[in-house]
Amino acid sequence: MSSVQILFELIEAGARIPTIAALTGILGSKARNFWRLQNLKPPSGRYPSLQQFLKINRQHIEISILAQHLHALIGQALSDVEIIHRAYKTHRILYPRSSVMVDHTFILWRQLRSGDTALIKCPACGGNVLKTNKVAKCCYCRRSLDGGSHAAFS
Ligand SMILES: [Zn+2]
Repeated sequence: MSSVQILFELIEAGARIPTIAALTGILGSKARNFWRLQNLKPPSGRYPSLQQFLKINRQHIEISILAQHLHALIGQALSDVEIIHRAYKTHRILYPRSSVMVDHTFILWRQLRSGDTALIKCPACGGNVLKTNKVAKCCYCRRSLDGGSHAAFS
């Protein structure tokens, strides 16, 4: 699948203008052509955030597993758009009714790369948990993540 095909699949799945702009470098009215070519309108409203997924335990587990998929793809010879696409598709197979969308996948990928969030191995149960400055507890065992190490991936 070419990068352009992947891009169109992501747009069909609900990706927003800022996500596509960041992945392609194409801005403004030129970017809107991607939607026009598919007879779609770009989604509007507030750009999503990851905060909602960190408040509910089940969703924290979902987003932690998505972070593992992304983490495993970082460093491979894949373009950014391929990484987002692969991780998002895997997530939809695992959680068909998930409220995690393409934009969330993109935000999470960017945060993992920048170091704003990290996957931490819980010191109590060994689960890989997405940790931010607002998350202090493991989503699997509910114990403190203090002292947890960065999860290692091969
Ligand atoms: Zn735990």
